[in-house]
Amino acid sequence: MKRFFVYLLLPLLLIVGCAKAPITGRTQIMMVSPQQEQAMGFQAEREILKKEKLSKDRALNERIRRIGMRIARATGLKLDWKFYVIEKPDVPNAFCLANGHVFVYTGILKYAQNDAQLATVMAHEIGHAIAHHVAEQVSMAMVTNAAAMAAAVAIQHNVKSSGEQAAYMAALGLGANLGVVLPYSRMMESEADHIGLMLMAKACYDPREAIKFWEKFAKKGKEPIAYFSTHPSSRQRIAQLKELMPQALKIYRESGCENLNASTASSQPRPATHSPLGAAVR
Ligand SMILES: [Zn+2]
Repeated sequence: MKRFFVYLLLPLLLIVGCAKAPITGRTQIMMVSPQQEQAMGFQAEREILKKEKLSKDRALNERIRRIGMRIARATGLKLDWKFYVIEKPDVPNAFCLANGHVFVYTGILKYAQNDAQLATVMAHEIGHAIAHHVAEQVSMAMVTNAAAMAAAVAIQHNVKSSGEQAAYMAALGLGANLGVVLPYSRMMESEADHIGLMLMAKACYDPREAIKFWEKFAKKGKEPIAYFSTHPSSRQRIAQLKELMPQALKIYRESGCENLNASTASSQPRPATHSPLGAAVR
């Protein structure tokens, strides 16, 4: 049986790669190639474009593209950046695919009172993409599935009663979820906040607006209990942003942003509304 584990895990361990997340420098497990990641991005894009209605609002499309390109330039990556606005006023959401194609739902606009707050969301989503979080999650799932399979075989081999076997298997599933999957997702959210904050500062959007945006966003939604959630609580999120703020402000001040913001007058206040949060920004 031991030989079985070796046969199962050895090929897996041999192809495990490592990567480094930008800005935070965190070491990541990466078992998905850049080509596979790109293909996943294009596949997702085709699915989304098949079912979603794009906004025809020219001014809005231009605004999203202008903000997005400033953040894209701040990444220093030459991706085929594209920005789509999806007409869904009830969905306060946005995301960026691995291929650098960004989707912003019109429902997020009522929470972002100016361009810097919109940049907060877009930079967070671009942060997920440039840190290859989807590919990392797929890689993690491959590793945890292999480990779970090995553990399941061990349970079947060592635990005689079928009732006890079921209890062990249930505990294994719950343990993997609480111990690996959820903390990992929360860590990625915090990392996207970290990367996003630095990107928006580098793109000359006042990073202090990120705190205002997330505070307002949190007030409209239910506070998740961090232990059972894929997201950090808003208190943890704001605390992290405050901790990183001196560093972000340094980047902001050193990028010669005063002149840029004075000439573009980026703040465009929008009236806040009080519709409940549906699918939250991830
Ligand atoms: Zn996120």
